Amino acid sequence: MSGSEAAADRGHVAVITGGTKGIGLACAQLLAGQGMQVFIGARSADDVQDTAAKLTAEGGGVVRGATVDVTSTDAVREFVSRAVHEFGPVDVLVNNAGISGGGVTADLTEQTWDSVLDTNLNGVFRMTHAALNEGGMRHLSWGRIINIASTAGKQGVVLGAPYSASKHGVVGFTKALGNELAPTGITVNAVCPGYVETPMAQTVRGNYARAWGISEDEVLRKFEAKIPLGRYTTPDEVAGLVGYLTSTTADAITAQALNVCGGLGNF
Ligand code: NDP
Repeated sequence: MSGSEAAADRGHVAVITGGTKGIGLACAQLLAGQGMQVFIGARSADDVQDTAAKLTAEGGGVVRGATVDVTSTDAVREFVSRAVHEFGPVDVLVNNAGISGGGVTADLTEQTWDSVLDTNLNGVFRMTHAALNEGGMRHLSWGRIINIASTAGKQGVVLGAPYSASKHGVVGFTKALGNELAPTGITVNAVCPGYVETPMAQTVRGNYARAWGISEDEVLRKFEAKIPLGRYTTPDEVAGLVGYLTSTTADAITAQALNVCGGLGNF
């Protein structure tokens, strides 16, 4: 029996950070719909409970969860141990939790810089380390680590220096770890969305509207004009690639950073 067949036999276990909103929620819905046992985490306890209950009621796999703040090593270890206690070793990790953050670089506080880097980049390292150790993935012969980076991880975003730096870091981490783990049957990839309609996207439009002195609708039109497809990507479209990467057909895809962005980035 291959590693993936053995994992599928006991039901794949997927851990998703930030699984209560936007892209993470769409990933949880899709993977649960495929019959996986999904363990979600976010900072809001109410959101975690409500989301897990709602997705489980929709059918497919069982969804449970716990609060976690990816900026805390202890919290991350406890969260992953809880997932193992509920479902067993972690076959699939989706590092999705992230925050926006930026502004005129000369005016940035070190606190903003640290908070974006600590959540978006260090959080990915912490969760990956915990999934491999507390989650037992390093002892499996098949596994998936999928990091939700961004097209901002491949090109600079104006007024988004900390965000761009964090996501470039995620892409670099993905490529290095993907190469390192390639002989083990564990693949590591980054999914790079462009503009995706989520609660974060609304916050980001609000921030640019204030910075540029225009309305949020005007910001939306400016962004849409940059996207060859002419519209934002949907969370489900991003989740679709995540779902594909969890399939055995994707066994040969590792150490890649793949865009889902309506043509915004073609590199
Ligand atoms: P949302 O802000 O809509 O959702 C973020 C999720 O992450 C929420 O569930 C939130 O829950 C959780 N979260 C935030 N901070 C933490 C933390 N410190 N610890 C644990 N959970 C946390 O974001 P999106 O769905 O838009 O984005 C998801 C990912 O996709 C992010 O990494 C983002 O950078 C990336 N992305 C998004 C794009 C977009 O246009 N929307 C484009 C490119 C990439 P809670 O607040 O309760 O913790």
